[in-house]
Amino acid sequence: SRPALADLLLSRIRDVPDYPKPGIAFKDITPLLADPEAFTALTDELAAFSLAQGATKVVGLEARGFILAAPVAVRAGMGFVPVRKAGKLPGATLAQAYDLEYGSAEMEIHAEDLSPDDRVLIIDDVLATGGTAEAAIQLIRRTGAQLAGLAVLMELTFLPGRERVTAALGEAPYQALLTV
Ligand code: AMP
Repeated sequence: SRPALADLLLSRIRDVPDYPKPGIAFKDITPLLADPEAFTALTDELAAFSLAQGATKVVGLEARGFILAAPVAVRAGMGFVPVRKAGKLPGATLAQAYDLEYGSAEMEIHAEDLSPDDRVLIIDDVLATGGTAEAAIQLIRRTGAQLAGLAVLMELTFLPGRERVTAALGEAPYQALLTV
């Protein structure tokens, strides 16, 4: 059942205080990835959500989003498309700038890997301020593909990430498997 899944996933995520800097409680998913039962259960849940939304492509956000999204794509019979930090993709890209706590960053996608017929589910591990996911949503829209939704493993509810991404998603659904 769902509570059992949430308990399993939560039990495999490690809180690392003051990483990468003081005051940040880092959510470390490596124990979950190392546990085949938990990693498979997470993959199956996200694949079911992808199929329920009628997605045709799964987009993972660098870097931990890649680890979650790639097996979901394979399990759901969909393609995988990476959204990478600027300068990492060799082909023609679309780029989206977004604000960080200090300064700004840019993410890129090979737009040719998506067509207007594609329905794209975006996956990442943690939703904090929502800035990363919001930029990814904007980037996918600019490719001309349809948005099937956004799924994250864990939402940090003390930050306004949910409001930010649901505003950006419009009608497309948002799912957080865990909220803490
Ligand atoms: P944000 O753009 O603020 O929503 O941050 C989301 C991105 O930063 C995701 O790609 C996460 O992997 C990472 N991130 C932010 N906060 C944390 C955290 N407390 N623990 C782990 N990863 C985080």
